[in-house]
Amino acid sequence: MWLRRIGLALGIVLAVGVVAAGVVLPPWLDAQQNSVAPPPASGPSEAALRLHAGLRVADLHADSLLWSRDLLRRSGRGHVDLPRLREGNVALQVFGVVTKSPRGQNYERTPGDSDRITALVMVQRWPLSTWGSLRARAIHQAEKLDRAARRSEGGLVPIRSREDLERLLAARKDAAGPVGALLALEGSHALEAELAGVDRLFDAGFRMMAPTHFFDNAVAGSSAGVEKGGLTELGRRVIRRMEELGIAVDLAHASPRTIDDVLALATRPVLVSHTGVQAVCPGPRNLGDAHVRAIAAAGGVIGIGFWDGAVCDATPAGIARSIRHVRDAVGAAHVALGSDFDGTIHAPFDVGGLALVTDALLAEGLAEEEIRLVMGENVLRLLAELLPPGATPR
Ligand SMILES: [Zn+2]
Repeated sequence: MWLRRIGLALGIVLAVGVVAAGVVLPPWLDAQQNSVAPPPASGPSEAALRLHAGLRVADLHADSLLWSRDLLRRSGRGHVDLPRLREGNVALQVFGVVTKSPRGQNYERTPGDSDRITALVMVQRWPLSTWGSLRARAIHQAEKLDRAARRSEGGLVPIRSREDLERLLAARKDAAGPVGALLALEGSHALEAELAGVDRLFDAGFRMMAPTHFFDNAVAGSSAGVEKGGLTELGRRVIRRMEELGIAVDLAHASPRTIDDVLALATRPVLVSHTGVQAVCPGPRNLGDAHVRAIAAAGGVIGIGFWDGAVCDATPAGIARSIRHVRDAVGAAHVALGSDFDGTIHAPFDVGGLALVTDALLAEGLAEEEIRLVMGENVLRLLAELLPPGATPR
């Protein structure tokens, strides 16, 4: 009898513990992993605020869908939600989807044989199907964005086609207008080594995909992988299928060989959604000047990140310095914002503070017309070229 009581008591303690972990842990992890520096002593200049208010701002990478947060409500945690996107006058936010993240991942050599996302998925009580399937994790995050868009009553608009993009821009009169959301995959291991996965994820709304994240996979080698190879045979077929469907190729986290292989194969311009440049911030995670030039020569756009590993000085001035380097090397038509907000970074400001970048670019000596390109027009131009036709019914 008493044994059974102890068993029952233990069971209750365990159940309470699991529920408490599910309630307390996700927001705690979110706040720990996606912190923000205290606001600067003085905000952007009047000139910057005026200029910023007239921009069409686009950011190429935020991992917000990974976390337990309502995208429609202002949160005290993390970097991105609809109220703060509006505060930052953002017209288009690309949402990157992470499905696997090895323990001890680093920029030099990361084996792909472990994963921390499984525990995060469990503690956030995602559907059972996502516990063992990377593709299910990607689709779950796509559905999460869809649900938020439906609840937003036109505030957050999924962008899946050229027409969607045109409609969004026509509807945006000011910062209170709708914000476009484009789905991107961070690492093609979520295809689960099947070409058909490209079509499945296209159907789920993905319009940008990176071959790799922190580790080599069946598609390609990562800049942080063990082998750091190029595109595999499957990888070549994946890139061709992406181009057929109208999915933008993102070379963030790609190994140098993968970048070369994709540039040799691709018939359309590519993006690097979030990176730094080695000339300003050395290291294997960032682009060398030869790749900066090759990507620009192919008509591509390079998104500069807002974290220390990308710019070596994660301040508005530091971000502006890396942007200016790309401008100086290949022109302002090939550089953009690639924040990596909510990507387990310590950000200098959240998305509401993007006018600080406009201010820093003015201080760095960029002309207003160049700032317009960098802050969004380059991304909008390229997506208008790469996205498939046909409006998404809603
Ligand atoms: Zn990343």
